[in-house]
Amino acid sequence: MDFKKLPPVQEQIMKCVRCGKCRSVCPVFAEIGNETAAPRGHVFMVQMLRDGKVEPDQDVYDHLANCLMCETCSVNCPSGIDIHQLNAAARSYIYDHNPTVGKELIFDTLWTNPALLKTSTKFLWGAQKTGLQNLARNLGLMKILPGDLPKAEGILSSIPLRSGRGRIKEVNPAQGDQLYRIGYFLGCGTDLLHPQVAKATVEVLTRNGCEVIVPRETRCCGLPHLANGKMDTARKLLAHNVKIFNEYDFDYIITDCGSCSSALSYHNIEFVLGGLKIEDQAFAFADKVIDLTKFLVEVLDIHLPENPQAERCRVTYHDPCHLANAQGIKTQPRELLKRIPGVELVEMAEANRCCGGSGTFSVTHYDLSMKILDHKMDNAMETGAAYLATCCPSCMMQLQYGVNRHKWNCQVVHPVELVYDYYQSLPELAKV
Ligand code: SF4
Ligand code: SF4
Repeated sequence: MDFKKLPPVQEQIMKCVRCGKCRSVCPVFAEIGNETAAPRGHVFMVQMLRDGKVEPDQDVYDHLANCLMCETCSVNCPSGIDIHQLNAAARSYIYDHNPTVGKELIFDTLWTNPALLKTSTKFLWGAQKTGLQNLARNLGLMKILPGDLPKAEGILSSIPLRSGRGRIKEVNPAQGDQLYRIGYFLGCGTDLLHPQVAKATVEVLTRNGCEVIVPRETRCCGLPHLANGKMDTARKLLAHNVKIFNEYDFDYIITDCGSCSSALSYHNIEFVLGGLKIEDQAFAFADKVIDLTKFLVEVLDIHLPENPQAERCRVTYHDPCHLANAQGIKTQPRELLKRIPGVELVEMAEANRCCGGSGTFSVTHYDLSMKILDHKMDNAMETGAAYLATCCPSCMMQLQYGVNRHKWNCQVVHPVELVYDYYQSLPELAKV
């Protein structure tokens, strides 16, 4: 696909009026304070790239990569420019001129193949015992691994041995009368890093009248590829997932990961697959995709049985950028939390400010990511919550690292885990 002909590149750049609104909300600019790291600077840079005034080289890539893809700039741009899409398109264009062995290995070989990805996380699980940095050094991997991985090894420090797929069945019948047939899009982050969330998702959905199918051939949603200059691979992954899920007759396609639901949304599919022959099938697929908390609150309208003995607990909520900015989903996760008896929801300041994780950003830009994380943790800790809830496995991993880093006695959870735990705490008769 021709970078210069992509709609954001061809049509949107000219709408920039240089107002600087995007700059004023950008979490990276807030830390770096340099125009080239600001979204307005990125727009200008992409324009120069398009017009051949700068070369598609690593320097330009590095400037553009100082970005979390959090979409805060895009939702605040008065001209409606999809600044993050401009950035992603430009990164791919530059990467195609400067491919690297490390990225091909990680994003094309491992991250397109669920079995290999799972094997590599088991390898990481083993590496945790010896220290990732030592292991990578001994194997000579330091030269090809991206960015700040050795510094970031603590972020990957709690990889479970057993994946989500290993804990849940492919077909999970509804308990009681079946209301809906659900395709569960089990993303890599939930599957490999937070398998307990996958288990809770399936249990809560089946308990509430949903048959849940977990297609075994599901592959990554493609968002990590898009953020790392691998747009062609993201396109192939999307096309594969569309084909797999469209073979079933699902009422809804649900994911508990804000990044996955944004990658599978109409808006992103239009950007990544725009103009391909399978566009109609892809839009039919996107029409069915829905975030788990939105489904539980707006479609199922779940209400949990009262339990006078329910323990009271204070919970605060962090908005994942790909849920709040990319999809406008802010009230539904909060509403779900409020419906759990005993939960007191306490808002943190700037709940929709990025946590600095953004998938692979904390690995490629460790120091910058930690500055952004520390702001988030200051706000979160002020609430005195016992639980820090969020709806994205990447945010969960980053926030858990922040909790450990600040020695805060708090548990990072997905809201569905609290729903599941509540069901588990009910006396036997009330569970049915
Ligand atoms: S907010 Fe939009 S119009 Fe204003 S400078 Fe940024 S990209 Fe340009
Ligand atoms: S996507 Fe986020 S980090 Fe990137 S330029 Fe926009 S506001 Fe800044």
